Amino acid sequence: MAFIPCSRCHAKYRGKGTAVYVFIGSGPANGRYRLKFCDACAGEFLEHIDQELAQVSPDGSVAYPTVDRCMACVLPLDFTQSPVIVTAYPKGGDQAQWLGALHPECPIPSALARWLQNGLQAA
Ligand SMILES: [Zn+2]
Ligand SMILES: [Zn+2]
Repeated sequence: MAFIPCSRCHAKYRGKGTAVYVFIGSGPANGRYRLKFCDACAGEFLEHIDQELAQVSPDGSVAYPTVDRCMACVLPLDFTQSPVIVTAYPKGGDQAQWLGALHPECPIPSALARWLQNGLQAA
């Protein structure tokens, strides 16, 4: 079985970790990111994401809270918003998806940026 380095703590874990895909529609961090987390980091990341973004139900509706504020500056969004989509494939669990949004000119929130930077260093 292969050893895979965690995108965040860089510890090598064995077997199936949690895969996370992050899409950011525009701004300085615009792009798609693929992260792989060990169990401990996956738990922390998903908890953080769950607080910051709105979870999408399996039927496609956004359960709570509705996405009407920018994740960075917390001001109301308008029609030019940039989507932030996080899709997770947790180990031993079902796929989960979260939705957030930013003004195109706003940076991504620092907490999320930190997770992505750690992931990118490992890539
Ligand atoms: Zn880790
Ligand atoms: Zn904003």
